[in-house]
Amino acid sequence: MPLSRRWTLTRYLIEERRRFPEASGDLNALILDVATACKAIAKIVAFEDLAGAFVPEGGSKLEGGAINVQGEVQKRLDVISNEIFTRTNEWNGHLAGMASEEMDVPFQIPAQYPRGKYLLVFDPLDGSSNLDVNVSVGSIFSILRAPDDVVAAGRDVVEADFLQPGARQVAAGYALYGPTTMLVLTVGNGVVGFTLNPTTGEFVLTHPKITVPPATQEFAINSSNARFWEPPVKRYVDECLAGKAGPRGKDFNMRWIASLVAEAHRILMRGGVFLYPRDMRDPAKPGRLRLLYEASPVGMLIEQAGGRASTGRQPVLGVTPTALHQRIGFVFGSKDEVDRIERYHQEPLSDDGPEPLFATRSLFRA
Ligand code: MN
Ligand code: MN
Repeated sequence: MPLSRRWTLTRYLIEERRRFPEASGDLNALILDVATACKAIAKIVAFEDLAGAFVPEGGSKLEGGAINVQGEVQKRLDVISNEIFTRTNEWNGHLAGMASEEMDVPFQIPAQYPRGKYLLVFDPLDGSSNLDVNVSVGSIFSILRAPDDVVAAGRDVVEADFLQPGARQVAAGYALYGPTTMLVLTVGNGVVGFTLNPTTGEFVLTHPKITVPPATQEFAINSSNARFWEPPVKRYVDECLAGKAGPRGKDFNMRWIASLVAEAHRILMRGGVFLYPRDMRDPAKPGRLRLLYEASPVGMLIEQAGGRASTGRQPVLGVTPTALHQRIGFVFGSKDEVDRIERYHQEPLSDDGPEPLFATRSLFRA
């Protein structure tokens, strides 16, 4: 199709809004501002070291030094990307507040700007350790409605305002900064993908209906954590690794990019299953990924595309967060595999008994 006849993100949002004549258009405007932030981040991720303006004396994109609330080293691009997200969205009047993986507490809309009815939650730069090796990174965002009393009173937001289950998201998406920059979005009516045309600066609708095939022969897990896995996860992976001769009767491939956005994108494009399960390493950290910034938005996209997103035990979109930076076990992708993993978590281990399965047969035994 000639480029000029393809829909842009703006057109897609306007056509979607026509289905809801009562809608104010605030959500569309907000999504367009988020897209603007993503374009700016795409630029600095690609050109930062050449672009001088963003690099303080002697700096590089690899150095940062500060430790964020998660106890992780913030890279300078994490901080810059966070700044881009807040600055691009603080003034537009659509938000009551924001929350980010990179900020300890919620961001208040500065007094000089009007406040609106939505909350924006984001991981401004996901997978940033991949920058060291020039592998894809992304931004993840989630849009929630602000509680009524926040909107009515115009009061400051507090942590509790953001603690809404993923099922209540109004929209969610990510930008992927790969060989091309893409924006993948759901406003609750399926999943669509846009590719940034670097010449016009427009996101162009290139993937009008993204669906996750229900079956797959591809799984992704960080197997260096195998010794901490809970038995159901060990069982699932062992069965995949056993291939044709094993209980699954087919060979599997494994993938691991260590960039959630890139993993989610692969699964949205061609299926697969991703696991970062709860494990037995540190009871204080039940999982690695963040519920609000990562699992909820990716979960909404996957489910809107016909896949499934789970904690391993229950649908992730049903989990009510208890803290802004809460971590959670996260399993998502092709429906059949996620169903199976949940089933393994529910089944008692008595079939083979834990002994043969996890001591003798385990391919990852210590
Ligand atoms: Mn992240
Ligand atoms: Mn991040």
